[in-house]
Amino acid sequence: ATQTQSSVTAMGQHHFLIISLPLQGHINPALQFAKRLIRTGAHVTFAVSVSAHRRMPKGPTLPGLTLVPFSDGYDDGIKLEDHAQHYLSEIKRCGSETLRRITAISSDQGRPVTCLVHTMLLAWAAELARSLQLPSALLWIQSATVFIIFHHYFDGYGDVVGNCSNEGSDPIELPGLPMLLSSRDIPSFFLSSNIYASWIPAFQEDMEALRQETNPKVLVNTFDALEAEALRAVDKVKLIGIGPLVPSAFLDANDPSDSSFGGDIFQDPSNCIDWLNSKPKSSVVYVSFGTLCVLSKQQMEEIAHALLHSGRPFLWVIRSASENGEVEEEKLSCRKELEEKGMIVVWCPQLDVLSHPSLGCFITHCGWNSTLECLASGVPVVAFPQWTDQGTNGKLIEDVWKTGVRVTANEEGIVEGEEIKRCLEVVMGGGERGEELRRNAGKWKDLAREAVKDGGSSDCNLKAFLDELGQGSM
Ligand code: UDP
Repeated sequence: ATQTQSSVTAMGQHHFLIISLPLQGHINPALQFAKRLIRTGAHVTFAVSVSAHRRMPKGPTLPGLTLVPFSDGYDDGIKLEDHAQHYLSEIKRCGSETLRRITAISSDQGRPVTCLVHTMLLAWAAELARSLQLPSALLWIQSATVFIIFHHYFDGYGDVVGNCSNEGSDPIELPGLPMLLSSRDIPSFFLSSNIYASWIPAFQEDMEALRQETNPKVLVNTFDALEAEALRAVDKVKLIGIGPLVPSAFLDANDPSDSSFGGDIFQDPSNCIDWLNSKPKSSVVYVSFGTLCVLSKQQMEEIAHALLHSGRPFLWVIRSASENGEVEEEKLSCRKELEEKGMIVVWCPQLDVLSHPSLGCFITHCGWNSTLECLASGVPVVAFPQWTDQGTNGKLIEDVWKTGVRVTANEEGIVEGEEIKRCLEVVMGGGERGEELRRNAGKWKDLAREAVKDGGSSDCNLKAFLDELGQGSM
């Protein structure tokens, strides 16, 4: 970013302005990042879309945090599949105006913004920061590995990655990554059939914005030990591991500094923690596909079959509505039977669930937040990726960190009940592989916690970033 006139305010305090897309998987890490900054003494203004702000819990936030709603042109919510490109241009148009206004008001109030942080797909924010002579930073809320795949794609490896997207093609090797990638391992944005393929230009803008920096740096929601190779895979951009961005109270039970304030835009009417309390240690299968994926009726029935025949208690999150209006809840023919053996909820406090002693395994879609959350809680997984970056995360889980088993779909793209049951048995059963997975999960839990402790790699990386910012050298 350009040289700043004053990197910290007169009071010596950083003032960060953070903007993210209004998706739960983007808001969560961005908000956790805000909390980390506040712990270092910074003030944070968090700009959040009107629709997400409306759904967030009301009441006091945190000292040091100001939430500012802004219109992204979709005040009633977004239908991403239908409107991706239009949405991204609207948030750019409306968001630029709001961010300009916020920076002007902050200066008038004597607390000028000293750095603008934006999550991915919002490269215009970096441009805006440049025009305001403010330092800015991209907060990459997916893995460093996925960053590297995108980086290479726009830097000479477009054909290699493009060819790999065809099913059945040979696996590819990309510089600096610790594994070969086949079509099911690369982000689904590259598959022409993917409804989010139209987001590719926005990723390209992210990469181009970095190219315009003299010393490009990206803050990545990962930690040094987890993605050592990927973090060092390119010379042109410095990747800084500052994660896992999950609440510090969850990472360290003795840490009282992280209040319960969160950014949930969904409600939790269940009493699933009471239910978990009634179950034996390490016995429960937790199933969730995050906040965006919508499963087909056939796939839901196969999961139901596996759960009913696994003989294990389960907690299954089935959202009551989705962005595209499909209702998964209505796709189950055996709901009554399921509710006799397990619990179905529309939303749950996932971190509390993952850290509950009754939990034995997580059947996960491998969203990056869910992936980090299970690594940080030491829970082994059945990896069940759907789209976006999830295939890459599933690959890392199975082949690099070895904390889970990945399901294989049949020729119609459906993962059959028997296959899900088989994977569950590997992860939760008494075999050698299950033991190894559980041991590895425990190892990563310790490493994740060490990274964010005082003096841990992520803690030091963040402090070094703030020092550089304070010296005005960004
Ligand atoms: N989440 C939750 N309760 C649920 C389902 C999801 O708290 O019932 C949270 C989860 O802990 C994670 C986020 O929502 O932090 C989902 O992000 P992720 O990257 O895993 O998936 P996405 O929804 O973006 O596909």
